[in-house]
Parts: sequence; C-alpha cells; structure tokens
Amino acid sequence: MNEVDIILTCGFSSKFKDIAYINDNFTCPVCKSHEISLDECLNMKRNKLVLLQKSVQTKMDGFSERTKNSQLYKNNIEYHMDKCYEKLKHEIDVRRKEVKLIINQKIDDYYFKLYYDVYLIKSIKLKEFEQTFDKIKSLEKEIKNFKIEDNAKINDQIEMNRDLRNKIVGGIDLVENLEEIIKEPYYGLQKNNGNIMVIDVADLFGELYLRKKINTILYKNNLEIDDFKRSEATIQFVIYDFDKLKNQNQTSKTCILRNLEWSILAKEITENNEKNYLEFYLCCNSKGELKELSVNVDIELRFLHRYHQNKDFIENFKQLFSIDLTTWRYRNFLTTKKLMNSLGGYFDEKYKYITLQACLKVDILD
Ligand SMILES: [Zn+2]
Repeated sequence: MNEVDIILTCGFSSKFKDIAYINDNFTCPVCKSHEISLDECLNMKRNKLVLLQKSVQTKMDGFSERTKNSQLYKNNIEYHMDKCYEKLKHEIDVRRKEVKLIINQKIDDYYFKLYYDVYLIKSIKLKEFEQTFDKIKSLEKEIKNFKIEDNAKINDQIEMNRDLRNKIVGGIDLVENLEEIIKEPYYGLQKNNGNIMVIDVADLFGELYLRKKINTILYKNNLEIDDFKRSEATIQFVIYDFDKLKNQNQTSKTCILRNLEWSILAKEITENNEKNYLEFYLCCNSKGELKELSVNVDIELRFLHRYHQNKDFIENFKQLFSIDLTTWRYRNFLTTKKLMNSLGGYFDEKYKYITLQACLKVDILD
C-alpha cells in the first residue's frame, strides 16, 4: 500500500506513505504551494480504485498463503489431528492416575478404620478374659477349701454337697466362657454387594467440555477498506489452561490499525524461582512498514471480572513503536497466583480461563 502512487488534486502524484499518515490537510509535497485535503484526495475515483486494488491484492496474498498452509495440513492430516489431541489425551491419562490414587486412598482409609475396630474389640475381649480368669481362680480356691463335715447331720451334708456341686458347675461355665473368648473372634466380615456407582466415576474423573472460542477483534469504526484510517480496536483474548500457562505462549487474533498488524501474546514467567507473573506482549507484526514510521500506541489492558464490570482490573500505558521496538513487553504485571485467587473473580475455576482485553489506539507521528 505504501508504495502506491496517489494522484494529487493538482495532478501531480505522490507515494501513499508520504501523505496518508500525516494530518488531514497537508501541503502538496510536489508544488509545496497549496494545501490538499487528504479525504478529498483519497476519495478521488482513480485513487479509490488503485487503493482498493492494492487492498484486494494484499488480502489475496494473505488468503493464498493461508490456503497453502491448509494444503500442508491436509497432506498430513492424521499427524496434525493426533498432535492437536495429544495434550487432551495426556490430560486424561494423568487424571486416570490421579483418580486411581484418590480411590485407592479411600479404600486404604476404610481398611485402616476396620483394623482399628478390630484392635478395640480385642482390647475389650482381653479385659473380659482377665476378669473371667480372676473369677475362676477365686472360685477354684473356694472349691478347694470347701469342707463338708463328716459328722454333720445328713440333711446338712446333702445341702453342702448341693452347694459344692453348684459352685463346680458355675466354675465349668466360666472356664467354657474363657475358652470361647479366645477360640473364635466375636465379629466377622460381612461382605456387602453395595452399589458400585456410589463412587460416581464421571463426577470424580471429570468430563469433556466444549471450549468456547471467543477470541475476537472489536473495531471501533468498521470501515470498509480503510485499514490505514482505522485507529482503534479492542482485542479480546481468552487464555485457556491459564493454570498451566508456563512455557506456552498464547497468541491473540490480529487486528489492523493504520495499516499495521497488531496482536497480543501472553505467557507465564518465574521470577527468582518463586513468583509466577503473567507476561504480556504487544506485537506490531508489520516490520516492513515500521521502517519509516514512529507510532504511538495507547494501550488499556483489562482483565475482565467474571461478574462485575466495575471490578475489571485495568492498567493504562503509552508506548512508542518504531523499527527499533516492534514488540513491547510488560512484565511487572500481576502474579498468576493473584489472578487465579478465587476471590479475585478473574479466573474461571471450572473451565480454567481468564479473559484479557487490550484496547489499542494507534497514532502515527509526523
Ligand atoms: Zn501540487
């Protein structure tokens, strides 16, 4: 676009880049003697046509590039599909191990509870044994010392023998009880055929869910072909797997402002081996165009609160972009821990994402 020849109102011509980025009214770069209105100039039919042709060409080039890529994917589709779903399969594998550990732990906990119950029963029975044993010992002594007088009256002798016999029978009972205490356990294990679904595996394991793709670009003024005139846009960027962002860059969609392509990128970095910060980049991908330009960008970063718009976390910056600085990095952002804090309201606990918006306003400096 920059190299397109534009016919000026006076009939001379100029390169697009020499007039389009400056103010609405400019002094003719050829005659240097009269003012030209940029709008009027760009609205001349011939200029409109060549700019539109150029825009069509640029978009066509982009389209062709992308169709080439889709052919590459098509040629190796099994590989790309496998690669795409590898991570999800890995997550399921990891979860399987975790769930097995959870269930195993539950089984073990119950097992140790039963073991403890057996220990308690044993202690009670041990006490019972000791008491019975003491009773037997004292009864044995009593029986040994039991005297029946030979010269007592016959009726008394009958009575005394009856007493002795009862004591001995009582003693035999006690000895039998004593043997019973140690012969067999008093409790058994009743195996239940309980409902196996008491453990709801799906509930415990988790389920597959559909990830909403809501990465979008919102342009303030959606002008038909005037990619070079449009100066404001909001990039909405949903960062999935936010809890596992480490070492994975995630990139937003791109937008075109003042004919330059912009995108944002997020990743997590660890500082001093302890705190993890979210690192944010604003990238101008049109390096060729930046060679001759200085661009001022107003950036408003906004973490969307999930419930209250007035609780969005907002920071504002200004940054000058040029060929010496095509990517701007902002490090001292929030710690990911703080962002994920459930009280914060930015992180979706269930689906593990946060939503970041970058409102950009691009000004090309004269
Ligand atoms: Zn002129």
